[in-house]
This record gives sequence, C-alpha cells and structure tokens, in this order.
Amino acid sequence: MDLAILGSGAAFSATGFNAGYLVDAGLLLDCGAPVTGLLPKMGRSVGDLETLVISHLHGDHVLNLPVLIATRLVQHPDLPPLRLIGPRGTQEHVAELGRLTFGPEFWDELVAANGPRIEEWEDGRSSRLGGYQLTAYEVAHSERLHCLAFSVESQGVSLGYSGDTTYCDGIRRLARSVQYLLCECTGWSAPAPIHLWRDEVEELMKEAPSTRFILTHLGERRPVPGALLASDGLRLTLRPGAPD
Ligand SMILES: [Zn+2]
Repeated sequence: MDLAILGSGAAFSATGFNAGYLVDAGLLLDCGAPVTGLLPKMGRSVGDLETLVISHLHGDHVLNLPVLIATRLVQHPDLPPLRLIGPRGTQEHVAELGRLTFGPEFWDELVAANGPRIEEWEDGRSSRLGGYQLTAYEVAHSERLHCLAFSVESQGVSLGYSGDTTYCDGIRRLARSVQYLLCECTGWSAPAPIHLWRDEVEELMKEAPSTRFILTHLGERRPVPGALLASDGLRLTLRPGAPD
C-alpha cells in the first residue's frame, strides 16, 4: 500500500497544508489540502480517484472538496461517480460548501448528473470498496460534530487514520487493530483542546506497541521518539507487518 502525505499541518499552524492523504492512486482521506494542485506533482490525477473518505466536517478537512469534485466532473465527465464516505451531516454540508464556492446554479447543475454518491457512516460500519476493506470508528473530537476515524485494509496491510480526536475509546480501539496508524498530534509542548498531544500519543503507543505511528495534523514539527513525523510530499510504502 502506498501512502502519500498531501497535508500534514494542523488547522492553524504553519507546519504544512491542511489534511489530505492519498492511498495508492484512488483513495483519498480528507480534503483540506489543495489536492487538485498536489496530485499532478505526485504523478497522479483527479481522474484516478474513486473514493473519498471524510473524517469530519471541520474546514481543515473538507474545504477543498468542492474544487476537487468540480475539477473531476469538468475534466473527466465520463468517469463513474466518486464514492464519498463521511460522518453524519456530510450530504448537506457538501451541498452547502459547493453552492457557496461556485454558486447554487453552477453547482447544482454540475453535480446533478454525475456528482458523488455520498454515504454517511456510523461507528462499526465496514464495507468493501474496490480492493479495500474500510471500517469506521467513532471518535470524540467536537461536541457539535459526528467524528470518525477509519481503518483501511488491503493485501495484508492495515492503515488507521485518526481524523481529529481526543484520547478516547475509538482511537484506542483503532490503534490496537492496525499495523500503521496515521495519528493526529496537534500539541507537542502543551495539551491541545479537543485534540491529541504528545503525552497522549505516547500513551497510545504504549497501548499498541506493535503499531507503527505516523504523526500528522502537526501543530509543531518536533519529534516523538519511536514515531515517524509526516511532512507534506512524504511518500511511504506500507508493507505487511509494521517494521521497526
Ligand atoms: Zn477537527
């Protein structure tokens, strides 16, 4: 499984673009990064995308969705519709974002014929998507939003993605069930409200000693012993069994 980091920065930090992670060529996790401009630099195309997975509806995870959806529809009108999976509220939120971004007439006309097929998932739902088994884990992040983390499994490799979360049951279950965990670490010097910070990440690492942690959503780019730090443009090949 190939993993490309498009954006490794927290919402309000200068460490990198906002959230965006490409799995192989066709699966995108979150869309806060300027994905349409970044994919060609990695030799990829919006036309390769088949599935978008959204962890929650904060802007640093979704604000580039309208541009991505519209670009794919304009450049590749004959492709099958994207499958878009997100938490409760995704359908309405994507429609609002699209209309705000491009105007209601253009947006509604554009997506009416071939727009994404949106599914709102709950904790524990699991489904086969092409070559991937995707499973949702509810996490506690914002009191106002339904927030999900996910695991993606393919060909003996399992990758977890925390989305944004506090130290909660959902992220602890996910950390123990995957080989690799793309895990948010918003705070390094001090606790970060509604997020994970270094001490909590280190606690998770102790609870899941065989899981390889890749830290992202970084408020500061500082190391945590035993974990890999994500950076924009980083590409990793994930193999079965987490390496040391
Ligand atoms: Zn958030």
